[in-house]
Amino acid sequence: MKTLAEKQVEYARLVLTEGLALQKGQLLAIDCPVDQAWFGRICAKLAYEMGCREVVMNWEDDELTREKYLHAADEVFDTVHPWTAEFFDKVSEEGAAWLAIHAADPENLKGCDAERIRRAQIASGKAMKKFRERETNNEFPWCVCSIPTEKWVKKVFPDMELSAAMEKMWDTILTTAYVDDGNAVENWRAHSAELQRRTEVLNSYHLKTLHYENALGTDLTVELPETHFWSGGAEKCITSGVMFSANIPTEEVFTLPLKTGVNGIVYASKPLSLNGNLIENFGFELKDGKIIRAFAEKGEDVLKNAIAVDEGASYLGEVALVPYDSPISNSGILFYNTLFDENAACHFAFGEAYPCLEGGDKMSKEELAAHGANDSITHVDFMVGTADLKITGTTRDGREVPIFVNGNFAF
Ligand code: ZN
Ligand code: ZN
Repeated sequence: MKTLAEKQVEYARLVLTEGLALQKGQLLAIDCPVDQAWFGRICAKLAYEMGCREVVMNWEDDELTREKYLHAADEVFDTVHPWTAEFFDKVSEEGAAWLAIHAADPENLKGCDAERIRRAQIASGKAMKKFRERETNNEFPWCVCSIPTEKWVKKVFPDMELSAAMEKMWDTILTTAYVDDGNAVENWRAHSAELQRRTEVLNSYHLKTLHYENALGTDLTVELPETHFWSGGAEKCITSGVMFSANIPTEEVFTLPLKTGVNGIVYASKPLSLNGNLIENFGFELKDGKIIRAFAEKGEDVLKNAIAVDEGASYLGEVALVPYDSPISNSGILFYNTLFDENAACHFAFGEAYPCLEGGDKMSKEELAAHGANDSITHVDFMVGTADLKITGTTRDGREVPIFVNGNFAF
């Protein structure tokens, strides 16, 4: 039996080798919560052992972020420092590996001015546009993973002692990354191959539409672009050719919807933590792809602001399938963290589309738009999967094929 500390190192190594396919001589950038700096240091030390040229840290501090939203001068929310923008720009341009250790307090910005949050989101969306484009295009290897932080685990396990809650979250994270028996790399590759198999079946159907139905009231038809393909498991970096895993954990296979081809009503099946605020019991009505009504029992203003940051924010950009019977879903935990919650349930995203189109990685913005891909400065996943979700596909030659039955893949 490995100790927790040994498994944590194995997890860090998995993230660097399978998540980022880190190469000798490469630059590595790491986003890390400052109150769990020790884990960032483990990653950095391992990276140097692997021959990484330099590690640059981008420390995240929830507490100071909140202080800024509460007390900084009003005009700072419309701009991003040029050196910050340049950092992201240069690092992505040179094809550095990017590790995002994401573990924010889901309600960090509760009570902060929603207008400041919206303005800052627009400013950072504009400043980071090139970086985000290179990221969605896989022009550099990137990986999002997570580690427990105190405020986050308190939210997830409110009735537990802090140390027990931290340990339980570590245990859950390691299990969902298949780090449990000392064979993390083999396990991860086998899992990735299974996701790949699902994409192959879906691609063989040449689907025209997907129809979603469940007892929450979801009744939604999603048209897919003619040249779409499904993606899942390891992805290829288009500049270096290495295979990397953009999310650890991941359980999804995904593609993009036709921007103007989504009609009906969809109800979220989990709360969404967005910009440090929780949105609960919400949903959307869509017509010809556009969200014409957004409703929520809690956080409706935050939700409405989020779909209004630009024109593309009120259209969908991702269609992702995740079985109800899968490790993260089976944990029964509501994580308030998209990395986990999106991998526990079928979801959509509003905003920017991944270019899952034949030849899409070489298309200009205009060509992508002409093929039906949505463009936006935002991309927000929201969960719709339930135990009774039924998804029926219609192929381009008019055949009906079951895709999901009772919340799980039909194949
Ligand atoms: Zn997704
Ligand atoms: Zn997404």
